[in-house]
Amino acid sequence: MMPDDHPRYKSLKEREALIEGYKKGITAEAGLIAHGRGEAFDYLLGEVTTPHAKFAIKAGAAALLLGENPVISVNGNTAALCPDALVELSDATGAKLEINLFYRSDERVKKIEEVLRDKGAKDVLGPGPDKEIEGLSSERRKVTREGIYKSDVVLVPLEDGDRTEALVKMGKKVIAIDLNPLSRTAQTATITIVDNVTRAIPELVKCVNELKKLDKEELLEIQGGFDNEENLKDAVKCIRKL
Ligand code: ATP
Ligand code: MG
Repeated sequence: MMPDDHPRYKSLKEREALIEGYKKGITAEAGLIAHGRGEAFDYLLGEVTTPHAKFAIKAGAAALLLGENPVISVNGNTAALCPDALVELSDATGAKLEINLFYRSDERVKKIEEVLRDKGAKDVLGPGPDKEIEGLSSERRKVTREGIYKSDVVLVPLEDGDRTEALVKMGKKVIAIDLNPLSRTAQTATITIVDNVTRAIPELVKCVNELKKLDKEELLEIQGGFDNEENLKDAVKCIRKL
């Protein structure tokens, strides 16, 4: 048992959740390593949602509310770390949940679907993909027509740079959550939230519920006032000051 006054309690709990996810066949082996890279950046950011991340979360929440067909892409790490928040965000925005994996297997997709349904998700896309993202050779190319393929706004927590680029090329608005402000994902997404998914997704839920009161013009203003390049510079500055 880990004492809850341990200074690294939250970080250690996240590791435990991922290891558990791995044992259950939800998270891929490489997902554990990817989490380690994320942890290093989180350490440098002070393990808090910084002002630049809050700014991006607000823009991302506006974009999700403005989307005609918004979709939340789910992978094995987010399913292990924050499945409740994913379902809450889907409920709050009306965005569809679609499982999309780099290390895809029918079994892993099915297990992640079960996790999401357990948390109350009604519709889960991902099994039986019927479309492919052009110009992408990884398993991540497999998507559904009704979900990611037709979407105009996609939230991609813990993304791979290749797919972010391909989705942007398809004309979609991509909201990425990535702790590394230097990654290709961060650099190519439309809106990058440099924050831990475990903080950013619950924050997105809160923000969406607040912004719901606004009209379309006001949401457009929030979305239009966001500059990803500038915001990423702020993220790097924040790391350098530590
Ligand atoms: P890219 O493909 O964008 O160039 P990469 O190849 O360096 O990035 P990947 O292995 O594709 O990285 O994906 C892991 C990314 O996810 C890393 O950038 C890491 O910082 C980020 N990451 C890991 N865990 C979390 C987390 N809990 N919250 C947010 N981001 C995370
Ligand atoms: Mg990558």
